[in-house]
Amino acid sequence: MPNPSPIAQNLETIRARIAAAARAAGRNPSDIILVAVSKTHPKAAVLEAMAAGAFVFGENRVQEAAEKFPIAGASLRIIGGLQTNKAEQAVRLADSIDSLDRPRLADAIAKAADAMGKLPELLVQVNIGDEPQKSGIPVAEADAFIRAMRARFGEALKGLMCIPPEAEDPAPHFRKLAAMADIHGLAVRSMGMSADYAAAIAAGATHIRIGSALFGHRRLPG
Ligand SMILES: *Cc1c(COP(=O)(O)O)cnc(C)c1O
Repeated sequence: MPNPSPIAQNLETIRARIAAAARAAGRNPSDIILVAVSKTHPKAAVLEAMAAGAFVFGENRVQEAAEKFPIAGASLRIIGGLQTNKAEQAVRLADSIDSLDRPRLADAIAKAADAMGKLPELLVQVNIGDEPQKSGIPVAEADAFIRAMRARFGEALKGLMCIPPEAEDPAPHFRKLAAMADIHGLAVRSMGMSADYAAAIAAGATHIRIGSALFGHRRLPG
């Protein structure tokens, strides 16, 4: 056997930590999906991660995603704030858009989906810490927005996504998002990144989004 690549080694470490965090929370590790966040890394890194067993990828810029994907056997999730004028490309390319956060974006996604006859899965992104600079629907508006998106997109709306404030304990924010998903009967909770995925798993994350712990430091500000 050749030596495993750094990405393969990182993946193994992360998988072990996911399993430990899941067991500690009384959860099944196989219920937690690792979203490999490949932004700023080349397609070669994506292929390396696939060779090591990753198959779900996250990109936060549609244009960058289009330079690497589609890749046969890989599932692509758009996880970054999405401009309305990129919605069409996102609908074409993505298996899931995880950053649905405003009515105008919903309009653009619906229009593109109608034209293409293809609707990706959708997550509503909640600005769980109500931070002015962050994308995501404000917490006070989230319930009404989630209901409206369920009415509009039906079963394509799978769940919620959040990025908690950097300087705070993320656990209460994760629990808040999970409670919101419970209220709306939504199964998917995408929360937790390289620094805090164990806490997210404890709070019920179904998808964790791992960039730097898997691929190493980003080459550009991402
Ligand atoms: C970049 C990014 C991540 C991954 O962050 P890491 O800390 O590198 O794991 C997760 N989610 C979103 C929305 C991101 O933009």
